[in-house]
Amino acid sequence: MAFTLPDLPYPKDALQPHMSEETFDYHWGKHHKAYVDKTNGFVGEKGLEGASLLQVIRTAKERGDKGLFNNSAQIWNHSFFWQCLAPQGSTAPSGRLKDMIDSDFGGQDALLEKLATEATNHFASGWGWLILNSGKLEVTSLHDADTPVANGMTPLLTVDVWEHAYYIDYRNERPRFLKSVLENIINWDFVGQNLDGQGETRADQQG
Ligand code: MN
Repeated sequence: MAFTLPDLPYPKDALQPHMSEETFDYHWGKHHKAYVDKTNGFVGEKGLEGASLLQVIRTAKERGDKGLFNNSAQIWNHSFFWQCLAPQGSTAPSGRLKDMIDSDFGGQDALLEKLATEATNHFASGWGWLILNSGKLEVTSLHDADTPVANGMTPLLTVDVWEHAYYIDYRNERPRFLKSVLENIINWDFVGQNLDGQGETRADQQG
């Protein structure tokens, strides 16, 4: 069974003006799809038919197979990222998530500022992450295609800071892209589900 490009959880124009339909045409329709197609091209020749996406990612890491790792990890990261977004104002942190944001960061604004700073300062391509580590919320970033699920981390929220994520809508202005996305179109319901261990991403379900 081949991996597939997952449907977006909203229409391509639902996150405007923070993320345009044209960005989805390229970022989801071309970049994400290319990672799916390349991974599908690899799995047969590498004896991994029938493996789940997480199995492929972890096997590629163990083998030091960078081509397979980069493409398969990027499938997972992008599938997770699309689920981290939602139309403006449709969700807000609540319950345990809100309590932990308050206790670990001092509030939502402080969390978003910390994540924006981490992601802005991340050199070159990669991803900004909010993860759960030893019962506490933590902000970090990972390079290129690297992914928390290959590092024993529990991912809660991510933002893509590869140039292809923002160049159509924001050109070179990564900080403006991060502010616009983080302050307006985060799917806090999904983040809360991940915290409660109920967030089964579309990527996990593949394979
Ligand atoms: Mn991307």
